[in-house]
Parts: sequence; C-alpha cells; structure tokens
Amino acid sequence: MSHTITVLPGDGIGPEVMAEALKVLEASSEKFHFDIEHTTHLVGGAALDATGNKTPLPPETIAASEKADAILFGSVGGPKWENLPPEIQPERGALLPLRKHFGLFANLRPGSCHPSLTHASPVKNELIPNGFDVLCVRELTGGIYFGEPKGREERAGEPVAFDTMVYKKSEIEKILHVAFTAARGRDKRVTSVDTANVLATSVLWRETAIEVATQYPDVALDHLYVDNAAMQLVKRPDSFDVLVTENLFGDILSDEMAMISGSLGMLPSASLGNIQDNGLYFGMYEPSGGSAPDIAGQGIANPIAQILSVSMMLRYSLGESEAADAIDSAVQQAIDSGLRTGDLFTGAEGETRVNTAEMGQAILTNL
Ligand code: NAD
Repeated sequence: MSHTITVLPGDGIGPEVMAEALKVLEASSEKFHFDIEHTTHLVGGAALDATGNKTPLPPETIAASEKADAILFGSVGGPKWENLPPEIQPERGALLPLRKHFGLFANLRPGSCHPSLTHASPVKNELIPNGFDVLCVRELTGGIYFGEPKGREERAGEPVAFDTMVYKKSEIEKILHVAFTAARGRDKRVTSVDTANVLATSVLWRETAIEVATQYPDVALDHLYVDNAAMQLVKRPDSFDVLVTENLFGDILSDEMAMISGSLGMLPSASLGNIQDNGLYFGMYEPSGGSAPDIAGQGIANPIAQILSVSMMLRYSLGESEAADAIDSAVQQAIDSGLRTGDLFTGAEGETRVNTAEMGQAILTNL
C-alpha cells in the first residue's frame, strides 16, 4: 500500500514534536511494509511570516492537502501573531478554514490516563486506581456555533444578542455512526450526551441515537444529560467508553476530559470528514494542546500527543491498524519504563526525566 500525507508542523512546539512523530511514522512504514509519501507545508504563524502577514493558510497548503489521504497537523499560534486582525490570526485563519474546506464534521478526542500517571490527574487517585480511557466524539460543524439567525440588535431600548442551535437529523445520524463505529473497535459502549429535558435539538438527538443504535446491536447505548455527564466525568471517568455529543457540549466536555487526563502533552485528536468507499475517513490529526509558547524552542515538549496523532491517522485514514497498535504499545512501554518529559515528571522513584528527542527515540526503539 502507498499513502500520501500532508505535514503541517506550524508554530511553537509544533515542529519539535513533529520531527519525532515523523521518525516514528517512517519506522512504522518500514516495519509494516507500506509506503508513505509526505510533503511539508506552511501553516499558522510560520505561513504569516513567510507571506508577509498575508495568510496563515496559503493556497499551496490547501492544494497539497487536497491531494493527500490525511493531514498531520502540529499546532499554530503564539504571542507574535496575537495582535493581527482576527481573520488572519493563526487559529481562526487556518484551523477553522481547514475544517470547513475539508468538511471535517467529527472530532475525536481520546481522554486517557495511564494507571502509572494517575498522580498527574486532578481526579482523586482512589477514584481511578486503573486510570481511564474515554473517547469523546464531538459534532464539529453544526449546532449553535453555526446556526442562523445569530446576531445582535436593539429591542425595546436595550441590546439583545441571539444564537440559534439547529441540527438536521442527517447531521446527527452521521456523527452517531462515527461514534458507534469507533465503539466497535473499543469496549462497545456509547453514551450519548444531550439535554433532552430542555432542548428540541436534544430531543431529536436522542430519538436519532436510539434509531441508529438498532444498526449496532453489538454496542450498548445509554444517555446522559450534559450537566450530569460533566459531573460523572470527574467522579467516575473510568465508567465511560465512547461519549458522543453535539458541538457546544463537546467543546466543553472534551476540554474537561483533557484536564482530568493530566497532561495535554499526551492527548492526540482527529477531525474526520465523510467516510469513503474504502471504509476510511479523510482526516486531520493533531495534538489536543496548542503551540505551548512557554516551553517552545527548549526541546522539552512531550512528543507523545503528536506521535499518537500519527497512530490515529494510521487507524482512521490509512487503514494501517496493525502499525497503529504497534505505536500505541511502543508509547505505553516508554511510559511503563518510567520515562517522563517535564510535564509528567514528579521525581518519584523509577522515573527518568527525558527531553523531546529522548522520548521520541525511546518510542522508536520500542517500535
Ligand atoms: P497550550 O495547549 O499551548 O498550552 C497549555 C499548557 O500545556 C502550557 O503550559 C504548555 O506548556 C502545556 N503543553 C501543551 N502541550 C504540551 C506538550 N506537548 N508537552 C508539554 N507541555 C505541553 O495552550 P495555550 O497556552 O492556551 O495556547 C498557546 C497558543 O496555542 C495560543 O496561541 C493558542 O491560540 C494556540 N492554540 C493552538 C491550538 C491548535 O493549533 N490546535 C490549540 C489550542 C491553542
């Protein structure tokens, strides 16, 4: 098999962690006998610098991505570009248009905490003796962020602002299929999160979830109201397998999940478009965190989120699940052997502090 990907390292720690991720990708292509062709392009602040602040998303970057099976993204943004007009700021001018251009409607964010890293989680350790592993599937292109009408006007002498939450049944079905399919490769449990006691969109959401579930008799479905889901995530995160929810709720819950996981440096994410005839998705894969300007340039960032983004890409876009499994266990082994970048290091017995390149090399060796 031969695969083509576009690599967009971006800003801050992006290029540093991307370098390690590409080494792991190349090693996995050798080990599992597939060809990988990748070209690197500009995005974010790096693109603004190169284009004299014209755009954080040059047309060549989009054109190259259109020809690829997937995009491997680093992170964008930083203080240098914060005062530019909002529409060309790195995140708003690059990330959102990329999602829109490629119709990336499903955001997958694993929130996991390895049993040996529970000390890094703010959840009381006695509540998560074995860590946890949740996958949050968030609808990314509908709901209140995009619904019309939205605006602001004067009513009876005072300013009034309004947003509209709209969901079509077909949009809900699409995201639920992603969640059920993902659950089939995990513990086969889906929790659908809504506010069906208050919102009309949630009533449609719940009805649709029940309907779609009939096509997945091997996967168990339950429902939680979003306020309860937020509470249960900090009380018993180990009870969840796949959480699926609409855009706004998912925005908040996936960040809560990232927080309880302990370090952003460990968490990958995927934004997926429509499923293709070959059963795979076009997708963009990136760490859940940002460009971490506070540690950029020091070679100390944790490369694991970027490396696990490679593993998600192999699984969902390239159909190389054996290679993905091997990368996941190589990462696990590195953690089990006590290696810790600064974000995870506590000084406890058995821990060895390593930098970005040393962590990358250890994972490569395990692979
Ligand atoms: P951030 O995620 O960059 O950093 C938050 C904290 O987590 C920092 O202390 C950072 O050092 C730490 N951290 C993040 N990734 C890490 C890693 N791999 N290893 C070790 N520590 C890590 O969030 P922020 O500080 O709010 O934002 C910084 C910049 O990133 C801003 O310009 C923001 O707009 C941008 N951003 C970009 C994306 C993206 O590209 N998808 C996402 C979020 C934020």
